[in-house]
Amino acid sequence: MLLILIIVTLKLSAIQTADPRAEISGLRFHQHPNFLRIVLDINHIREFYSAELKNPERFYLDVFQAKLSPALAGKSLEINSGCVRTLRIAQKNPSTVRLTVELEPGKKKQQKIFYLKNPSRLVLDLYHQTQDSTRASGSSSSPPTSAREKQGVASPPTTEEKPPQPPVPSSSGYTLVRQLGLGVKRIVLDPGHGGSDPGCLGVNGLKEKDVALDIALRLKKILETEGHFEVLLTRDRDITLPLEKRTALANKYRADLFISIHLNASPRKNRSGVETFYLNFSPDPAVNELAARENASSTKNIREIKLIVEKIMKNTKYDESRELAEKIHYNLYRHLKQHFGPRDNLGVKGGPFWVLIGTEMPAVLVEASHLSNAKEAKALKTDMYRESIARGIFRGIIEYVKSLGKG
Ligand SMILES: [Zn+2]
Repeated sequence: MLLILIIVTLKLSAIQTADPRAEISGLRFHQHPNFLRIVLDINHIREFYSAELKNPERFYLDVFQAKLSPALAGKSLEINSGCVRTLRIAQKNPSTVRLTVELEPGKKKQQKIFYLKNPSRLVLDLYHQTQDSTRASGSSSSPPTSAREKQGVASPPTTEEKPPQPPVPSSSGYTLVRQLGLGVKRIVLDPGHGGSDPGCLGVNGLKEKDVALDIALRLKKILETEGHFEVLLTRDRDITLPLEKRTALANKYRADLFISIHLNASPRKNRSGVETFYLNFSPDPAVNELAARENASSTKNIREIKLIVEKIMKNTKYDESRELAEKIHYNLYRHLKQHFGPRDNLGVKGGPFWVLIGTEMPAVLVEASHLSNAKEAKALKTDMYRESIARGIFRGIIEYVKSLGKG
């Protein structure tokens, strides 16, 4: 008994002293013709978040569950090249390291953030306007034309010192469909929830699972008759279907697009409107709360979280999914506003939705309206409103497909 106690005590003290934070031990940069590569040496993969700020124009990258090695504390580097003026790194709070990039106003075009191994490092590529890219600006959604571009986007370069044909920013992370200029033929629609999982409940008794299925069936009809797409549903009736199966079905069907349809619920009863997601981490507690709710029927357990984090990092459909989300979102938002009056524009966001993890095609999750809002719940009872949601999503899909150059 005593021995057990000692072991337990030893284990407890080991847990207490183990620092869960990854260490950032280096900050380097390399100037390339059309981008600046910034490298953070970090011993473990960690979640990160990036955003842009104005006045002065700057970009930041927060690495969570990380600490800065003492040698880097408060370090700042003068770059004055490309779109970057200076780099600063600091421990923002005990668990977050922030890299701040002061930008040359109006020069940054795009960024790409990814992990590389051996040695383990987090890479931030900041692309700037060049004469070529200025000429090509506005064509960011056109398919790349040269063989070099097609080659370059397949995988990120393996060393920062000598990247093999750095990808052009407009096509970075694009799947083969986009790279080869192929069109969209097959679409998988995923009506959220079903069977024993009703999803959220409307203030008027509507169930998310029923409304989502009805909208998906309407959308299927429009896509088939007007868009001439081949459309498959993950479920066409009221059955229980785990999230992983939905993704697996989309991959099995070799779909070109995956669209998961949901209805939202918020504790704020006056919150209304459309909210559209692609797969990413989110620092927003409200998004994570929504994701937790939508992820509730997953069979994944906590041990798989590390794998999930790695999958999100390697999400090669990031750019395309975000574009698809944007096209669907704004078309749906505009369409509903035009026909049913003003509503909140909640925007396009990244969120850790498990149904989007592991999809091999651009994938989005649409929260088409709020069942928690009395006005929208009432509208959701009507055929006209449901049809309008299907129509708005359809328009977004068409705009996305046209942007591929093969409409
Ligand atoms: Zn849902």
